[in-house]
Amino acid sequence: MIFKARKRSIPIADLEIKKSDISKGAAWTVKTLQQKGFETYIVGGAVRDLILGLHPKDFDVATAAAPEQVKRIFGRSGRIIGRRFRIVHVRRHSELIEVATFRAAPLQQSATADGLITDDNIYGSAREDAFRRDLTANALMLDPTEEIIIDYVGGVADLKKRRLRIIGNAKDRYKEDPVRMLRAVRLAAKLELTLERSTQAPFASLGSLLAAIPQARLFDETVKMFMCGYSSQATMTLEKCGMLFELFPHIEKFDAQQREFAYLALGINDARQRHSGNASLAFAIASLYWPKLAKPFAGKTEIRHDDFADLLRDCGLRANRLITKKTMLDTHDILMGIYRLRRFHNTKRALTILSYAHSAHIIKKALMLEEVRVEANETDSNVLDWWRNLIEDNRQRIPSLPAKKKMRRRRPRRRKRAAAGN
Ligand code: ATP
Ligand code: MG
Repeated sequence: MIFKARKRSIPIADLEIKKSDISKGAAWTVKTLQQKGFETYIVGGAVRDLILGLHPKDFDVATAAAPEQVKRIFGRSGRIIGRRFRIVHVRRHSELIEVATFRAAPLQQSATADGLITDDNIYGSAREDAFRRDLTANALMLDPTEEIIIDYVGGVADLKKRRLRIIGNAKDRYKEDPVRMLRAVRLAAKLELTLERSTQAPFASLGSLLAAIPQARLFDETVKMFMCGYSSQATMTLEKCGMLFELFPHIEKFDAQQREFAYLALGINDARQRHSGNASLAFAIASLYWPKLAKPFAGKTEIRHDDFADLLRDCGLRANRLITKKTMLDTHDILMGIYRLRRFHNTKRALTILSYAHSAHIIKKALMLEEVRVEANETDSNVLDWWRNLIEDNRQRIPSLPAKKKMRRRRPRRRKRAAAGN
């Protein structure tokens, strides 16, 4: 099998990676440790991204040196952090490089009866460190001094084929850590890679294992999943394998219309993220819950407060384990916003509501949702148009909508007001 694959060294030039693509701080950190006799590489997502021709957002380093040794070598530029995994933050000019010691796969004793890993903090060799990682694409090691990539797992070949593959037996690896399934889904969506068949096959049967993951860790993954700019693709994969309904147990399966709505809304949020980095997690979550709330109102122009509040109470949002209470409340407000847009439509109170920063913020998100409803032919555009005009006509009087004001101040010569961009 491929996982007995030989160690390969591939010159970075063969992969069209230039030395100048590599962070200077990381290369310096690696070299410093190598000169002290410790095998050291740049590892993880950065190597993967370089091969794909992307700009890594950070460069992580892995070394044979123990954290105390790393700390001693870098003196005041190094700080040991973390309790469970002790890593060293090395500061080099304006860069911060995370240096971790090679770790081995955890011992059997540290797994629960279900195979869930509870302690995986055992030091090991570079080879062991590669094999304990999740995906072959994430297990590559780059030596910036020699300008080569060390590949123990066939990750370079997989990346050339643009596929993501789990290292080892997929079921076992997901049982050890079910979050790996979510990581695989997210990275495939974000990097536009294909999930190899046996990597994806266990999702359908193992999705329920996510229930054992602590809430804080699930929330971290949820944020990454819905804020990566590719959440609509990721959600499609989750839906296909049944994991979406595992994660949002109260949302029953989407029908065609609900699906259209959800993906339209997520796609709009993704585009915002990719263009200006301002996606909203609460909006993404609202996009998944709205289709369920929408059904009873299909074709109706009036929405009664109590009916709406009842639905919102019973839709399962409050019980969702993926999100924090704050995100849950923001999501709740956005969904309730669909009601409020109607309640205060054609009233003087509307302007008062917009004068409060928090409620204006929520109204704007609710308008985004309303826009998707219009686009999906769920409602006409009367309410949407009325609020948009109100905001446009009163931009100067609404202190909570500062974006355009700032722009005007920076361009004093411009007389005409900037057109409404949203
Ligand atoms: P991103 O671009 O989202 O940061 P990444 O691959 O760098 O992607 P990190 O969460 O920063 O993701 O993790 C760094 C590396 O640690 C990964 O590339 C992978 O090798 C390893 N890793 C992370 N999470 C796991 C896990 N659950 N199981 C095994 N290895 C993991
Ligand atoms: Mg990373």
